[in-house]
Amino acid sequence: MNDELKSMYTAMGISEEVLSFGEEVLSGLKERFALIDETAEYNQLKVLKALQAHQVSEACLLGTTGYGYNDIGRDTLEKVYASVFHTEDALVRPQITCGTHALALALLSNLRPGDELLSPVGKPYDTLEEVIGIRPSKGSLREYGITYRQVDLLPDGSFDYDNIKKSIHEKTKLVTIQRSKGYQTRPTLSVQRIGELISFIKGIKPDIICMVDNCYGEFVEKPEPSDVGADMVVGSLIKNPGGGLAPIGGYIAGKRECVENAAFRLTSPGLGKEVGASLGILSAFYQGLFLAPVVTAGALKGAIFAANLYERLGFRVIPNSLEERHDIIQAVEFGSPDGVIAFCEGIQSAAPVDSHVTPEPWDMPGYDAKVIMAAGAFVSGSSIELSADGPIKPPFAVYFQGGLTWPHAKFGILKSLQALSDRRIVSKFFP
Ligand SMILES: *Cc1c(COP(=O)(O)O)cnc(C)c1O
Repeated sequence: MNDELKSMYTAMGISEEVLSFGEEVLSGLKERFALIDETAEYNQLKVLKALQAHQVSEACLLGTTGYGYNDIGRDTLEKVYASVFHTEDALVRPQITCGTHALALALLSNLRPGDELLSPVGKPYDTLEEVIGIRPSKGSLREYGITYRQVDLLPDGSFDYDNIKKSIHEKTKLVTIQRSKGYQTRPTLSVQRIGELISFIKGIKPDIICMVDNCYGEFVEKPEPSDVGADMVVGSLIKNPGGGLAPIGGYIAGKRECVENAAFRLTSPGLGKEVGASLGILSAFYQGLFLAPVVTAGALKGAIFAANLYERLGFRVIPNSLEERHDIIQAVEFGSPDGVIAFCEGIQSAAPVDSHVTPEPWDMPGYDAKVIMAAGAFVSGSSIELSADGPIKPPFAVYFQGGLTWPHAKFGILKSLQALSDRRIVSKFFP
């Protein structure tokens, strides 16, 4: 590293030891980074192809107000999403407030009283527990008489095919498969494994709707779950597909009937996709989608860098330093609240916004333990931007993700290590 850059890092609070340790770790990652760039290149062309195929024009970037009838930009964007995910249709709306809302919408609109929902991949994301009614909540699926069954992964992370088969019966209407690990330490599922699971399930009952919670997985691989049999893929625009520019929103891409059900629930029976003004938001949705493959690649590099760095320091990292990636999340187990808190403080201090504030654990709605979050984002709560969060409960793992650019992701990780070093949590290497 040249002196000019080195002194910039020094001026930004990174010590000589932390910086050179980081560089040493990075020198071993060139080949992996080249593979990530290749995936980004492929996905960039995939997105561009979809934008061109639907003749996105300047008029599409403008918005509508009021009812939003004949919103050409909104309708075209939904076609673009359907092309990117190779699905029949898509619903992509600012009225979908977050990822949980998108998932709740997909579930509540495609299930009816008496139906059963099955998760064959263990406990779903924390906020879905209330959607399903695992933890009681008003308006949950359970309140509507929709039952839930869960089959956990086997201890080695593989699917429990025997019990999945036993759990499928005539009432099983929809299967939810979470691609990303979320706040768990199980492995994230590859698109290929998701495909195998869907084939198995459809082999038992062909008309089951297979939904994939695609949060954090978009553009990490070349295929998406909808390329391997998923009837619906669902996610948040303030994660990967919004490319850091979408200020709100969620999407559901899938079979026409599934998307239609969701649209009738989002707006109203009879109205469906025909209403829903896009206001002034569409150019951010389009441009964000256009940038998403490269933004996701930067975040992935950050995750791999963090895994390699912290593994070398003796912490358990999930995925480990060598594993293939299927989402942008990196978990690091610190084994103590102090480690989680120092890590998050380091990430916060690297932010472009609110770098001067100190994050603290708090009782966040939808979660069953205190959570500390580091986020200094242009879009509040955006987790495609450099961010970290950790529930303050064993095994005291922190979940790190995002970074709109690779240099920023790198800097954030160095800052986290600097904070751990300053607090003597990694004193073995940094006396
Ligand atoms: C983020 C996330 C959600 C929920 O999305 P929010 O936008 O936070 O509501 C659901 N599932 C997974 C796997 C996620 O990562």
